[in-house]
Amino acid sequence: MIEKRQFYINGQWVSPAAARDFDVIDPATEEVCAVISLGDQADTDAAVAAAKAAFPSWAETPLEERVTLIRRLGEIYKERRDEMGEAIRMEMGAPIDLARNNQWGAGSWHLDGFLDALENFEFEKPYKGADRMRMEPIGVCGLITPWNWPMNQVVLKAIPAMAVGCTMVLKPSEISPLSSLLFAEMVDQAGFPAGVFNLVNGDGMGVGSQLSSHPDVDMISFTGSTRAGIAISKAAADTLKRVSLELGGKGANIIFADADEKAVKRGVIHCMQNSGQSCNAPTRMMVERSLYPQALEIAKAAAEATSVGPTTESGRHIGPVVSELQYNKIQGLIETGIKEGATLLAGGLGRPEGMNKGYFVRPTVFADVTPEMTIYREEIFGPVLSIMPFDSEEHAVEMANDTVYGLTNYIQTQDDDKRLRVARRVRSGMVETNGIGRQNGSPFGGYKQSGNGREGGVWGIEEFCEVKAISGCPME
Ligand code: NAD
Repeated sequence: MIEKRQFYINGQWVSPAAARDFDVIDPATEEVCAVISLGDQADTDAAVAAAKAAFPSWAETPLEERVTLIRRLGEIYKERRDEMGEAIRMEMGAPIDLARNNQWGAGSWHLDGFLDALENFEFEKPYKGADRMRMEPIGVCGLITPWNWPMNQVVLKAIPAMAVGCTMVLKPSEISPLSSLLFAEMVDQAGFPAGVFNLVNGDGMGVGSQLSSHPDVDMISFTGSTRAGIAISKAAADTLKRVSLELGGKGANIIFADADEKAVKRGVIHCMQNSGQSCNAPTRMMVERSLYPQALEIAKAAAEATSVGPTTESGRHIGPVVSELQYNKIQGLIETGIKEGATLLAGGLGRPEGMNKGYFVRPTVFADVTPEMTIYREEIFGPVLSIMPFDSEEHAVEMANDTVYGLTNYIQTQDDDKRLRVARRVRSGMVETNGIGRQNGSPFGGYKQSGNGREGGVWGIEEFCEVKAISGCPME
């Protein structure tokens, strides 16, 4: 059993002010795999005070020195890949290959994207006349992250914050704290000055809201549910701190009749990846009516071919969902889908055949889903796909935009003009077409209730900056 009760504050591993144990559950076995502590106000205050004290000198540290430390951190992250993969596997139930490749890999991919962006990032530049513009670090940042892609989120926040000269307190999800504790060890190993990076474990109501309302925290960067994003915004309002939000999604995957032949299968696999626990998952598949009957056959076969298995085994199978709470929520939504009249094509209620332990969900596909149905509207966050037909380009765009979310939409067509035309009309921060992923450093973020932040690359660096305008500067 792993015992990791300490927090990382001011360059030291310290015990919590008051003992409050919290069990970390391995979702594949339902057994306790680690014990951590949940912090309280005194721990939050100590971490914020350390970050505040470290800020002036870190902000003044030459960029090259900060970048050298980030590069060193990146090397350590690569050296300790196996440990990181294992931590993620255990805490959130990613099968080991997914954990070591995609989950771990998302972190190093974004880190490289930031290093590229920093090469040409202009922290100070002349403007009109004798004006100069400066990008300066905003100050002390509270980083609050979810469990579903734990290192992806931590790297997207901690690296640009460090790079621009901010100091920070990370509060990872209490459900998946092990990867972040390991990340803190790596920061320590890299030799960052004390207080630049601090970690306090805790829950949303405790350390999460303490950071959000803290007068000495200048910015909260949050990724998680829309519900928590609203709570954080309200808690942050009294101190008027910047709040950058990356929230949920209900992505449309618009498949035109002239899409490539792999489009439907690719959409099913993408939806099921990480057991459906991705904010940008293409969960509403919209298929042009002439292709609809054939698409249903392909989708059914693809879902039935999606195997579910233990996280310790290598392979391309999916693992469990993260917790009993999520398992029950997903079961409830599958039940609602059936009751509200959607056609169950594959999967359904209960665990996959032969499994009686672990939060494993059957890869599930519903057809004939309509906009009135709950499963069309709510983020399910499990391996559950909804399919529906559309009659025209206009109809597809209207359905895609008929949601409170606006994170990623997907378009599949071999008609170049149509692809771009539709991409311009869907209301989302990202559009991915024909199965081509975006580049690292391309901004990640949403419209509407999917949030207001942009992470990654230049845009992700700017998030952690204040802009200062100075007049009357000496001309160069
Ligand atoms: P969650 O909102 O319950 O928790 C996320 C984090 O917020 C955790 O660290 C939690 O402790 C903390 N938290 C919860 N309530 C809080 C409060 N009132 N004040 C301060 N902190 C609080 O979400 P989750 O269940 O961990 O993650 C799943 C959600 O995250 C999904 O809705 C998913 O779509 C979203 N998500 C979005 C993105 C994105 O970039 N848009 C990426 C990953 C996940």
